[in-house]
Amino acid sequence: NVNISKKLIEKTDKYGAKNYNPLPIVISKADGVWVEDPEGRRYMDMLSAYSAVNQGHRHPKIIQALKDQADRVTLTSRAFHNDQLGPWYEKICKLTNKEMALPMNTGAEAVETAVKAARRWAYDVKGVAENQAEIIACIGNFHGRTMTAVSLSSEEEYKRGFGPMLPGIKLISYGDIEALKAAITPNTAAFLIEPIQGEAGIVIPREGFMKEAYELCRENKVLFIADEIQAGLGRSGKMFACEWEDVDPDMYILGKALGGGVFPISCVVASEDILGVFNPGSHGSTFGGNPMACAVSIASLVVLEEEKLAERSLELGNYFADKLKEISNPIIKEVRGRGLFIGVELHEPARKYCEALKEEGLLCKETHDTVIRFAPPLIISKEELDWAIERINKIFG
Ligand code: PLP
Repeated sequence: NVNISKKLIEKTDKYGAKNYNPLPIVISKADGVWVEDPEGRRYMDMLSAYSAVNQGHRHPKIIQALKDQADRVTLTSRAFHNDQLGPWYEKICKLTNKEMALPMNTGAEAVETAVKAARRWAYDVKGVAENQAEIIACIGNFHGRTMTAVSLSSEEEYKRGFGPMLPGIKLISYGDIEALKAAITPNTAAFLIEPIQGEAGIVIPREGFMKEAYELCRENKVLFIADEIQAGLGRSGKMFACEWEDVDPDMYILGKALGGGVFPISCVVASEDILGVFNPGSHGSTFGGNPMACAVSIASLVVLEEEKLAERSLELGNYFADKLKEISNPIIKEVRGRGLFIGVELHEPARKYCEALKEEGLLCKETHDTVIRFAPPLIISKEELDWAIERINKIFG
């Protein structure tokens, strides 16, 4: 019995491409903030599938929406209408206060969509000369793994062996308004930014930067695009992390928790003069906007709102961060974050601490070597956080 996990890991290692380095744990069941391995050991999930299960594992309302929809129709393609897409459009546009949405499946695809929209907008609306459009992004960003997303990246390991990269991209230092000013030209289509850099280790730009960058973009007719795939939908203690600086971006890119960790769905939302640049045949996806994804997404958004998960994230995040800051250990360099989106930066590699926490029943994952990310499902209770703090104290206290 104790060998089930070991055998499953061996099989995974034997047949799978080695593009991940997971902790040695197999999850075969999950409920709320808890997951279980085939041997019946329980763990608290402090990663939430990189913030895709903000609503908690298998939220009953989301699972019900999935089951109900599975009994009706799962896929139509966009060759025909389906009865879930219209209501989903309305829901996501009202939530973001935008006029139009375009659904895709994964985060990286939504980033592709945003870049395509920005480029076409630059040519058709702004009047940039053909093939001259530029996108400005930030050092340390993570926008996914497609060619566009890795072309945007400053991380050599994300790009090695995959060239040639997409042209027309400029990178500036995260939070450096002077660098942004210097990078903008009449050909700049968009400035693409994560309001909080997740994969970089929960990095928050200097206070005021987002607002200043937004104003600068407006003055120069540059689209301000917020990649809120990870930081959005309640994770940072606000529905959207841009709200921390009262910024209303021209375009949101959303994914992950948009499908409640149950069904993949991503999207871009913007005004009509931006997304209106797409005409039939210019963009699409066989599964984009499928009725399963839309039904699940509507339920996922209803849960976020009904259970006030953004407010909950703010309150419990402050509580949890304070507890983490109380730990006095010279290995800890910094505790930072917003809401239940917290990074604990160490003076040494974090992997071995993640492994030790796993032995205590707490699942966390290191990001960028020295940072432990604490990002539990937002439905977590205060008592459960206390349980986590006890375990963390055992390792670091
Ligand atoms: N953008 C951000 C900010 C992300 O955190 C991620 C995933 O971690 C992505 C894009 C890519 O999303 P996906 O893995 O669904 O393609």
